Amino acid sequence: MISKKMQAMVNSSSAIRAMFEEGKRLASLWGEDKVFDFSLGNPNIAPPAAVADAVRAELQADDPVFLHGYMSNAGYDDVRAKIASSLNARFGTNYEGGGVVMTVGAAGGLNVVLKSLLDDGDEVIVVSPYFGEYRCYAANFGGKLVEVPALADFMPDCAAIEAAVGERTKAVIVNTPNNPTGAVYGADVLKELAHALERASKRAGRPVYLISDEPYRELVYGGAVQPYVGAYYRNTLTCYSYSKSLSLAGERIGYIAIRPDADGYDELCAACGVATRILGFVNAPSLMQRVIARCVDVKPDVEFYDRNRALFESVLDEAGLEYVKPQGAFYLFVKAPDGDEAKFCARAKERGILIVPSTSFGVKGYARAAYCVSPAKIEGSREAFKALAASYN
Ligand code: PLP
Repeated sequence: MISKKMQAMVNSSSAIRAMFEEGKRLASLWGEDKVFDFSLGNPNIAPPAAVADAVRAELQADDPVFLHGYMSNAGYDDVRAKIASSLNARFGTNYEGGGVVMTVGAAGGLNVVLKSLLDDGDEVIVVSPYFGEYRCYAANFGGKLVEVPALADFMPDCAAIEAAVGERTKAVIVNTPNNPTGAVYGADVLKELAHALERASKRAGRPVYLISDEPYRELVYGGAVQPYVGAYYRNTLTCYSYSKSLSLAGERIGYIAIRPDADGYDELCAACGVATRILGFVNAPSLMQRVIARCVDVKPDVEFYDRNRALFESVLDEAGLEYVKPQGAFYLFVKAPDGDEAKFCARAKERGILIVPSTSFGVKGYARAAYCVSPAKIEGSREAFKALAASYN
């Protein structure tokens, strides 16, 4: 028998993954061209050519032990140093290689950070809507999420976050560019958030850490700029991933970056290294670490997603569906015409469209569509979206 805790997790298992599986099932019944799967944030473009070049170059190196063996739990020192230098050059930060811990994607990084910070009963504030996996990640370490609703424009409500900091609050998670809304937090918002957390930390007499979950850091459109979150608040733990930027989601590679002026810096760095080991990751995948060392400044193909975004917006506009205009990431948050997200997603599925109900992200009334698919898939869904909207008339 599996544990009661795990039974609960299995029963409430990710609706996103369930939709993805459903998409595969429907495609086998109806044919691939009749199914429009916008459920999963799985990039549909090949990694930049530099990634394949780096893999080939690494595989030709003549030291297989070095390439495929264990290394320090926090990762290869030279890779960590390269990432620190790259961040410092791009964002004017002051990272040291020792403050970078290589991770199994952002998911691995978030689990390592939460393992390092949380005691049973500790609280983590999230801005709703939020990436639903945070619930499981906090629960993994006896932590509890405290949801603070975003403002009407999906920016964080900094005053409400400050007010929500209590005795057990260890951290606040933010995610910008945002999944599921596509919102991008600007400099003013990040300054306000930093001030709110500084006041809250002072009142608490201990640091309230900011966990910046940023797998979509570079994916911004239409003139939007994503300022570097970790530049605003010294107690920021940045969880980055190459899953989206370099289309390496299945390879599981990312990092945590900790500012050298963060409270408890040495302890935090040590804890993240140990957490990597004892969570069973042991270390981030070695080949991918070496590849990243060669690709640290490679830029993602933002144009591809921007074109997809424009195409998807035209599909929704033509159907007459309302949505939050995204500034970043690769998601569209579409309003359920009558406010009933479950009905909306069920009706969409009847027409071969797979989208995720917003209850997975802690709010009602919307569905999330991931547009990191082929342009042909988006174009192909046009009539199905029109039929979906028409079913409300
Ligand atoms: N955080 C957010 C907001 C995400 O959307 C995702 C994946 O979709 C993750 C974390 C996990 O990403 P990774 O593949 O880097 O573990």
